[in-house]
Amino acid sequence: MRILKDLYFYPWLSMQENNANTVFIDGPVPTLIDPGHARLFGNVTAAAARDGVDVGRPKLILFTHGHPDHIEATELFEEDVLRGIAKDEYVYMRQEGKELFLAAGAHVPGRPFRLLLNEGPLVIGEKTFLVIATPGHSPGSICLYEPKEKVLISGDTVFTLGVGRTDLPGGDPDRLAASIKKLSRLDIEYLIPGHGEMLKGRKAIDKNFAMILSEFFE
Ligand SMILES: [Zn+2]
Repeated sequence: MRILKDLYFYPWLSMQENNANTVFIDGPVPTLIDPGHARLFGNVTAAAARDGVDVGRPKLILFTHGHPDHIEATELFEEDVLRGIAKDEYVYMRQEGKELFLAAGAHVPGRPFRLLLNEGPLVIGEKTFLVIATPGHSPGSICLYEPKEKVLISGDTVFTLGVGRTDLPGGDPDRLAASIKKLSRLDIEYLIPGHGEMLKGRKAIDKNFAMILSEFFE
C-alpha cells in the first residue's frame, strides 16, 4: 500500500509463516528495505504490482538488521545492487548471528554489502533519512527516520503494541530499552515496524511509546 509519495509499505499478514514487513521507496533510487524471506518475496512483488509499482529492480537494498526473516531475500537480486547494513550488524551476522541462519535452514547472505552504515544522514533519491543506531534486538539494529514527513522505519526495535525480542543471540534488554527511549523523543507521524501493523498519528504513537516503556521496562 502507498503511504506517502514514493513510499510503500507491504505488511506481512499471514499468521502461518514468519516474514518481515517490507518498505519500498520509489523514485530515482528505487530502494527496498527488509525484503524478507526469499521464498516469500513473491508476495511482496505481487502486492506492489497491484499498486502499479515494480520492486524487482532496486538500486539499493537496506536492512534494519541481519536476521534471516528480514534479509534472506537479498540473495534474489544481482550482485551489483548496493546493499546497506550497519557495520556492527555485518560483523554480527558472521559471528553469533550466524546460528539463526543455520536454524532457519539458510545460509548467511553471500552477496556483498558495500554500504556499511553509521549513524547519520542517508540520502535516498529525493529523501534524506537519518540512520539511528538502536541496538538491543540485535547489536547492529538500526532505524531509519525521515524528519520531513516524520516517518520512522523501526525494524524489530519497536512495534505497534510491542518490542523486539531480546532472547536471540546478541539480544540485550537494557540496550533495547535505551534505544526505545531514544526513539520516543522523535516527532513521528508514521511508525512503520518490521512486523505487525503500522501506526499513524503523533498522538497514537506517543501513547504507544508510553505504554511500551511502562509495560516492558519498568
Ligand atoms: Zn529480528
